[in-house]
Amino acid sequence: MLVSGEPSFRESVDLMFNRAAALMNLSPGLEQKIRVCNSTYTVRFGVRLRGKIETFTGYRSVHSEHMEPVKGGIRYAMSVNQDEVEALAALMTYKCALVETPFGGSKGGLCIDPRQWEEHELEMITRRFAYELIKRDLINPAQNVPAPDMGTGEREMAWIADQYARMNTTDINARACVTGKPPHAGGIQGRVEATGRGVQLALREFFRHPEDKAKAGLSGDLDGKRVIVQGLGNVGYHAAKFLSEEDGCKIIAIIERDGALSDPAGLRVEEVRQWISKEGTIKGYPDAAFTENGAALLEADCDILIPAAMEGVIHLGNAANISAPLIIEAANGPITFGADEILRGKGIVIIPDMYANAGGVTVSYFEWVKNLSHIRFGRMQRRAEEARSRLMVEELERLSNDQQLGWTLSPDFKERFLTGSDELALVRSGLDDTMRTAYQAMREVWHGRPDVEDLRVAAYIVAIDRVAKSYRSKGL
Ligand code: GLU
Repeated sequence: MLVSGEPSFRESVDLMFNRAAALMNLSPGLEQKIRVCNSTYTVRFGVRLRGKIETFTGYRSVHSEHMEPVKGGIRYAMSVNQDEVEALAALMTYKCALVETPFGGSKGGLCIDPRQWEEHELEMITRRFAYELIKRDLINPAQNVPAPDMGTGEREMAWIADQYARMNTTDINARACVTGKPPHAGGIQGRVEATGRGVQLALREFFRHPEDKAKAGLSGDLDGKRVIVQGLGNVGYHAAKFLSEEDGCKIIAIIERDGALSDPAGLRVEEVRQWISKEGTIKGYPDAAFTENGAALLEADCDILIPAAMEGVIHLGNAANISAPLIIEAANGPITFGADEILRGKGIVIIPDMYANAGGVTVSYFEWVKNLSHIRFGRMQRRAEEARSRLMVEELERLSNDQQLGWTLSPDFKERFLTGSDELALVRSGLDDTMRTAYQAMREVWHGRPDVEDLRVAAYIVAIDRVAKSYRSKGL
């Protein structure tokens, strides 16, 4: 995917780190300590499948242990390699620092094409991989807590949690060893949608600030904005769905690995997703124009471009042709270091990955806390909250009657006011608060320092500063 001569993904992340570090007052020793990846464990294990032994290669990389547990997903893809896992682990460190989830950064990966294997085979492979990591404490509620990433989801996380529980029968916090589990197996409401929801909340926050919009030459709110989404996986799908159904955005193109669909009037995201899951391809979808060379649409005219698939899709070979004034990095590392420079030169505003896709780890944090506290969020307060609201409504109605004021509360207000927050409502509220607070921290640096030109450098500065403080307080 990368044009030859471009740095690797990990080098690209390091170069972005260096841009920010150059504007900070870190001692060279501390700067180096933060930049480097602490350790990467490689495992090759065999599983007997279809009558023969298949060998798989997997990784778990720990970038920074300034806070523990360390956190980050496990990816299943044939392209997984050490460089990629280390880059992703580093991004996890900065992401967690930026959104204030109390974790260090980690990432895992398994070289596998999950579509080649049956469900029961994937379960054997996952359990074996998990076994290798658990016995080295690379999965552990206090030390290292994985989550879903590309190619994995609730199902794999449930297998991992169960494998850990089998190997640690007396650990009362066993369920906190992994996040992104299904709700019936210790998961939390709203985790599956969380990363896409976070992208929506990030854009809403961006559009609240007129000066920020102006930097991208945009105005107004999200209503009617023309959006191109690359990748209709979990993140791209939820982001596109929420932006179109709740904010009035028009999804004018969806780019997938086997082509792209476009419709200037806006695609119906839910229908496209149904089509892909039924047909296994985007091809043949009846209500839109089809383009074989999907990547070409990354360059098409739009207001917001959302790369939501994988790293390196905007590179030296296509950056100059990108026309979107605003890019939000829903994927990790979709823009290479070289491409980033070109896009900045063109005045394109980039909402960086470590912020844009932090919704996933934020809700993972809520899930981990829920697992450790052994109680569903809202269970103690919800009805008490409703009872108080009811008191207020009854009192208002009594006053209105006694004083013959003739007030009537609208039924819609009454219903909403009388409904206490359930787990999903609390998760969404916590996520919204996180996305707003982190954006404000970033934008203070962006607007407050004349030497900071872009949101990515601002994000790195906020994150690195927090990691540095944490190391310093440990005596480093
Ligand atoms: N894999 C996701 C990410 O890149 C989620 C990580 C987590 O929830 O720990 O942020």
